[in-house]
This record gives sequence, structure tokens and C-alpha cells, in this order.
Amino acid sequence: MQSRVAYIASVARSGSTLLGLLLKEHPAVVDAGEADWARPYLIGDYRRLCTCGAPLKQCAFWQAVRDRFGDLAAQDPTFGHMARLPWRRSLGRVAAWSGLPVAERAACQVAARHALRWLQAVAEVANRPVVVDASKSVTRLHFLHHAAPDRVAVVHLVRDGRAIAWSRMRRHKLGMAKAASYWLANTLALDLALQRIADPQVFLLRYETLCTAPQSELNRLAIWLGLQPFVLPPHIGRHNAHVLGGNPMRMEADNRDVVLDAAWQTALSTRDLAVFDAIAGWRNRKLGYRD
Ligand SMILES: [Zn+2]
Repeated sequence: MQSRVAYIASVARSGSTLLGLLLKEHPAVVDAGEADWARPYLIGDYRRLCTCGAPLKQCAFWQAVRDRFGDLAAQDPTFGHMARLPWRRSLGRVAAWSGLPVAERAACQVAARHALRWLQAVAEVANRPVVVDASKSVTRLHFLHHAAPDRVAVVHLVRDGRAIAWSRMRRHKLGMAKAASYWLANTLALDLALQRIADPQVFLLRYETLCTAPQSELNRLAIWLGLQPFVLPPHIGRHNAHVLGGNPMRMEADNRDVVLDAAWQTALSTRDLAVFDAIAGWRNRKLGYRD
């Protein structure tokens, strides 16, 4: 069985953890979570829990994936977790695929092959042919897709930039100017990477529509992925899942409803909204978010 990858291309806080939890309910899909954290989480110093409740390093599922994959320390499926790349300083330059030194480009191509083998091991252990990769990295997206364009389908998940900026303000105690700039830089970098992928291989999904009509949106996506339509269970949860990394919501109790988080609409002040609009409003409107 050769697996296929559904890569969730999104800015952080766009709902990718939720989308992974919903997609994994399909009998042909397994959610590998933020796969670019596989090496640090499974053999590094981190002490994180798998969604099954076991410490990641003791989870039988991930142990089976490691056994199948081989030496995780020697063959890096995580791009050194991007440590070698100057992506924080020049995200756009890397995504534009210009100015990346030859040695780094070659290292990324090797890492992409390891990453595809890692995702294949996940699919085989789960015995499900489609693997969700919810890594947020545009560099990983670029190299994975170009290593195997027929195997990597891209789900472009977008969310109103004001919601993401508010989430970042709250989480990182930032002002709106920094939060809006973060969102703008990341959404532009993602766009540069997506421009290099042919349109039929990209599926556009809106967080807001996903939350208000999850069943129909998931079936639209399933059909696009070449899968049968399916019936979502009445509530989402972490049952039968071994998700690595992601929003803390993945660890919360089962039996949650899918709820649209629109807290930004009441939380942001008129001034915050004006600052966002001055910095990133043009981009948000281009994505279809208008008042
Ligand atoms: Zn587990």
C-alpha cells in the first residue's frame, strides 16, 4: 500500500488540529499531527502526551512507527525541525525558493524523502492509506509536495486573520500591530509556496464553514481526496487517535461539539480592528473576509 498525504497548509491557529480530529474519523484516514515534531517529541527531551493518554515515548503506536521507519536519530523526517533554515528571519525568501543555499536545498530534499517514508510508516501501522500531516511549515510543504506531487494533496485551510491575530495576542501577550504583522507575513509566505503548486492539487477550506457545516465540508473534502463520503460521529474526540502535537484542545475530554470560535468579534477593540485593517486588512479582504 502506497500512502497518500493530506497536508494541511495553514497559518498556526487556523483550526488545523480540529480539521485533523474530524478527518481521522474517516475509515481511510490517520492523523499524524504535527509530523515535523516527530523527532524532537519521540527522541528529544520533551515530555509530551500522545492523544491516547500515554507519554509519547511510551505510546505503542509511535513505537511501532519508529520500528518500521528505522533509525529516527540518523534519518531525519523533520527537517531538523527547521533548525538549519533561516525561516524565521526570511520566511518569504525560503518559500519563494530563491536564495536558499545549495547545501540547505539538498538537505531539505533528503529530509523530504525521509518524511515521506515516515508518513508511509504511519499509514502502514494504522492500516489506513491517507495520512494527515498538520505541520505548519511552508518549507516542509514545498519540499514534500515537490518530492512526490502525486502523493501529496494540499488542503489550504484559511481563517479570518482577525481571529488568528486575536488568538496570538491572547496567547503571547502581544499588541495588535505585532499579531497582525505575524499573520500577514505567514499568510504571504504560505501563498508563495502555494503558487508553486498546481491548482487542482489544492483544496480551499474555510475554518468558519468547517465549523458551521462540518459534515458537508468533510464529505466535500473526502470526495476531493478520492475517498467515499462518510458520516461524522455526533461529537469529536481523541478516541482511537495518536496525534502528535497541535492545539491543546486535542487533549480535552471527548464528546465535544464542533463550535465556531468567534471570540475576536467581541474581544477586539475598535482601535485593535483599525490597527489590523491598516496592516493586513487588504490581505484579509483578498481571502474573502469582508465586513
Ligand atoms: Zn498514542
